[in-house]
Amino acid sequence: MIPAAFDYLAPTSVDEALAALAEHGDDAKVLAGGQSLLPVLRLRLNAPEVVVDLGRIESLRGVRDDGDALVIGAMTKHADVLTDPLVAEHAALLARATHHLADAQVRHRGTFGGALAHADPAGDVGAPALALGAEFTIAGSGGTRSVAADDFFVDLFETAIADGELLTEIRIPKYTGWGAHYEKFVRVAHQWPIVAVAAAVRVEGGTIAEARVGLTNMGSTPLRARAVEAALQGQPATDEAVRAAAAHAAEGANPPSDLNGDADYRNHLATVLTRRAVLAAAGA
Ligand SMILES: Cc1cc2nc3c(=O)[nH]c(=O)nc-3n(C[C@H](O)[C@H](O)[C@H](O)COP(=O)(O)OP(=O)(O)OC[C@H]3O[C@@H](n4cnc5c(N)ncnc54)[C@H](O)[C@@H]3O)c2cc1C
Repeated sequence: MIPAAFDYLAPTSVDEALAALAEHGDDAKVLAGGQSLLPVLRLRLNAPEVVVDLGRIESLRGVRDDGDALVIGAMTKHADVLTDPLVAEHAALLARATHHLADAQVRHRGTFGGALAHADPAGDVGAPALALGAEFTIAGSGGTRSVAADDFFVDLFETAIADGELLTEIRIPKYTGWGAHYEKFVRVAHQWPIVAVAAAVRVEGGTIAEARVGLTNMGSTPLRARAVEAALQGQPATDEAVRAAAAHAAEGANPPSDLNGDADYRNHLATVLTRRAVLAAAGA
């Protein structure tokens, strides 16, 4: 279907974009890579009068080194995250997850910030961002504020970004030297995950010194598997120890039941995929 008619604005700065959002209020919608928004418009699930395209705002693109963290612009394309050497060195989990996100075409249009702002619980970059303790910079007419990953994902397709605000950048602490793996379970290649697990571990002399584990599609938002993280700490990086810790993967989760599988099946998948992800991240 063809979307309903709308006016198109293409600001070249964040201030200009914020002014457009302030002027048009509920009638305006932000456009990033369009990989989620355009299908919504074409199905006429939303019909904004004005679309504010962020594509010409150069300052929202790219990855930079900021001392103990990486800063990724919201409009950085998935394909650029995937091939960025800083991401590979300091936030390998993000690169691993992005590798499994959709196909090359979608990765060349879709953006890191757009996917996070869209907040689909089956999206592949939410769980890694949560597990790595990302901080989200949100700009509004009153200035910018920083939101911790734990507070960013509010509910199904809902984040801490308020009306009239923009996600501008995502700050990810460095995990240099950590092992990382994203284990995604799909029935058909390039699909959204039925369940996926993001794991980053720091191994010292065969022992898991620290672990961070995020779950995709195990609730209305990405989830942190804190019980698994606690159970892994100080354990040997062996199949037996990791299997025991992974048994806690579904604790506190509330997965959906749909045509791809019911909640019990997803709970089972979470434990199996967590074991695989952690073992792979630990290089065991
Ligand atoms: C065929 C296909 C397969 C896909 N498969 C997968 C998959 O396997 N895994 C996966 O994770 N994703 C998948 N996607 C989605 C992809 O990740 C999109 O890139 C992502 O969901 C949206 O990013 P975008 O930049 O295209 O945002 P858009 O579609 O432009 O925007 C998405 C939403 O976020 C809002 N928004 C965007 N940027 C900002 C911002 N900076 N500040 C505030 N609000 C903002 C928009 O207003 C809109 O509501 C798929 C998409 C397609 C078309």
